[in-house]
Amino acid sequence: MLLGTNQSFGRARRARLNVRTTLRFVAALCFACVAVRAFPQQPRAPVLPSTPPFHPNRILVMPRPEVAVDTLREFHTAQQTRVLRTFPRVGYMQVLELPEGDSVPEAVARYQQSGLVEFAEADYRVSAAATLPDDPRFLDGTLWALNNYGQNAGVPDADVDAPEAWDVLHSASNVIVAIVDSGIRYTHEDLVTNLWRHPLDGSAGLNALNGTTNVWDDFGHGTHLAGIIGAAGNNGKGVVGVTWRIQMMACKFLDNRGDGSNSDAVTCIEFARSNGATVINLSWGGNAFSAAVSNTIRAAQSDGILFTAAAGNNARNNDLTPFYPANLALNNLVSVGASTRQDGVWSVSSYGAGSVHLFAPGATIFSTTFSSDSSYGNMNGSSMATAYVSGALALLRQQSPAAPFDELVGRLFSAVDRPPAFAGKCVTGGRLNLLKALDRVSVTAVAEPPLPMQLHLNGVPNHSYVLLASTNLSHWTALATNTAGPEGVWSFTDLQSTNLPQRFYRGIPAP
Ligand code: CA
Ligand code: CA
Repeated sequence: MLLGTNQSFGRARRARLNVRTTLRFVAALCFACVAVRAFPQQPRAPVLPSTPPFHPNRILVMPRPEVAVDTLREFHTAQQTRVLRTFPRVGYMQVLELPEGDSVPEAVARYQQSGLVEFAEADYRVSAAATLPDDPRFLDGTLWALNNYGQNAGVPDADVDAPEAWDVLHSASNVIVAIVDSGIRYTHEDLVTNLWRHPLDGSAGLNALNGTTNVWDDFGHGTHLAGIIGAAGNNGKGVVGVTWRIQMMACKFLDNRGDGSNSDAVTCIEFARSNGATVINLSWGGNAFSAAVSNTIRAAQSDGILFTAAAGNNARNNDLTPFYPANLALNNLVSVGASTRQDGVWSVSSYGAGSVHLFAPGATIFSTTFSSDSSYGNMNGSSMATAYVSGALALLRQQSPAAPFDELVGRLFSAVDRPPAFAGKCVTGGRLNLLKALDRVSVTAVAEPPLPMQLHLNGVPNHSYVLLASTNLSHWTALATNTAGPEGVWSFTDLQSTNLPQRFYRGIPAP
């Protein structure tokens, strides 16, 4: 049984673009970790956030080169503004704090009219650091699963937080993901660069139906999954996958009606395992338990291979009516149900408090289609949801190539978002969140000069991190490497900080 249904290959309505890309500085704690972030380039949200779009008492100004320092200082005094920070390499640009009760637009206007500055502008708010690709169907908001800001009647943030995650990692170039399905249209414009290639003949996988390497998709299901996992990102075309760069292996065992057999599935899995796949996507299933499939998946544990499996589109409780391979109780297999843009369980998705591990977006999912090299369209199903999890696991595997498979599964499960609809419907009670599943570290300051800086690094428990410091945000030096404790925290006191006018910090996973 195939787990994705063809809904529509029509073009979705194109939303209006808002291409505002104000680069700005986020002023955080004095001397604490500060990031330069781009304002997300994203379509206009139909519901605007209620928070003001700029900092309530800060503005940015750039002095005119010919204006004397004292002249500008006197103007600041008259305006009762205070210089919080100066950027000598950016034309001595300043961050100013306004006096209580002053209005940002009026202060900006006064500085603009003073003739002393090249520009004055509000300190615009950034919602999150975000790495955004230029793919048109991402920018127009069609790909709600990756970034949901409430477009098309969605619930804001009912998504996997892809732009924020891509800030950490957006490509899994070293990872081979096998899609055991109906093949892939390997000439598709948005897939052709992200396919695994056999070192001997350049083929993209195996066709277990006829024993050849021709994996041409004559049904369409596998091509759609491929676009979700790894459509080429930032190539100006079509869509973007969970990963922008990856090696997708096509293992074909479903025919042009979407039917296949367990023996051919096992042949595909063994081919994928022999040729280096570390994540294997199984977006299909049936009600009959197969010891052959179960043993094949279990045997792949010794190579650390992770499997994803669709929970099925029967609106059933899989605890009561098992569905395989999703219901196999193997700790290298993740079972996935389909969620909606409103963060609900998709009406047709199966579920199971003891048998489905998590949900992921699976309703009205837009991806690559098989009818031409530039065709795209919507499909629904736990198949699609499964592909999102495969993409997520590929990024985790890229980031932690040596981690045991159960550690990655554990991170995936503990990272889910838990809106109420998923409680009691799956083991984790939640929906995939890519950002939280990635290994990342944040640095917070808990004491500031004149005391030595005291810093807390928050990361993944028992993972090692490098603390970096910089005085100018361009040259970073490693201060220390250490392992986060069982709570994921590592504390550090920087004794050098008291001698420096300013200091920035960041943490990265240790190599
Ligand atoms: Ca989000
Ligand atoms: Ca693309």
